[in-house]
Amino acid sequence: MTVNGQTKTCGLIGNPVEHTLSPVIHNMLAKMTGKNLIYVPFLVEGENLADAVKGAAALGIRGLNVTVPYKERIIPFLKDVDALAQKIGAVNTLVQEAGGFKGYNTDMPGLYRAMLSDGVSVDGEDVIILGAGGVARAVAVMLSEKAGRIFVLNRTGEKAMAIAEEVNGYAGRQVAKAMPLSAWKELPDGKYLAVQATSVGMHPCIDDVLIADTDFYQRIHTGYDLIYNPFETLFMKLVKKEGGQAFNGLKMLLYQGIIAYELWNGLSVSGEQADRIYERLRESL
Ligand code: NAP
Repeated sequence: MTVNGQTKTCGLIGNPVEHTLSPVIHNMLAKMTGKNLIYVPFLVEGENLADAVKGAAALGIRGLNVTVPYKERIIPFLKDVDALAQKIGAVNTLVQEAGGFKGYNTDMPGLYRAMLSDGVSVDGEDVIILGAGGVARAVAVMLSEKAGRIFVLNRTGEKAMAIAEEVNGYAGRQVAKAMPLSAWKELPDGKYLAVQATSVGMHPCIDDVLIADTDFYQRIHTGYDLIYNPFETLFMKLVKKEGGQAFNGLKMLLYQGIIAYELWNGLSVSGEQADRIYERLRESL
């Protein structure tokens, strides 16, 4: 592309940002949709976060993605926060408005759109969420309206309990239950959709898996690992070995980016465009 006097800037703030794939997504989208827009990563130190947001607004940066470790910490510096992001308690996309940035969460709609694109339905499904970190919490919030029952299993039991309590409060029903990791054998009989939302198994520790007992995987008809590097995690391999279907987190990454781009530019990205970017992301891994 040619950078000129009309070029708009979007970007990513986080720490670290060196290995991000977001520039691949957004710079391809700008080219495909004919926008004079460039997307760049910005490494921001924690003590500079407020100044970075203020400075970006002053510079007329159209939109920003926010990544680790700022998704929660950035909220006090925003002019407004969208209702879903407020409920999730984390923001990964900022949109410039008069007087500052409004925060959104496109991670969860991104996961939902990824599941739709993979033909995975969550309606009425019994779900196991492995993990109780920031993303696990957001997944539980997202599923609370649609899923049948949700079981949150985590190494640190108190974190799983806090999520279940919160989600039950939102849902107004006892939809979520916390369980210690070791208690998976006490899950009610039946087949589950499982979302692997821990960092266990991520590159370079690719031989790690949260639950190694293969009997666990006989209970899973669909496994979603939110990790995308490696492309096929040990969790996914074990799900497949026991006859289930398994997906990684690359489409979630893709669609959180697409939804952010749609917010910044007021347009819709087509399925064909999404497929082309997905192929490029795969090659970039
Ligand atoms: P987080 O808040 O740091 O939570 C990490 C989770 O992993 C916690 O449940 C933690 O358990 C568990 N964990 C870590 N090491 C463990 C170990 N050795 N044994 C057992 N449990 C362990 O992280 P997050 O932000 O939620 O991210 C979770 C995962 O989602 C990461 O792998 C990240 O790459 C992925 N992710 C993917 C996308 C995407 O677009 N595909 C987007 C965001 C995140 P404790 O609570 O016991 O510590």
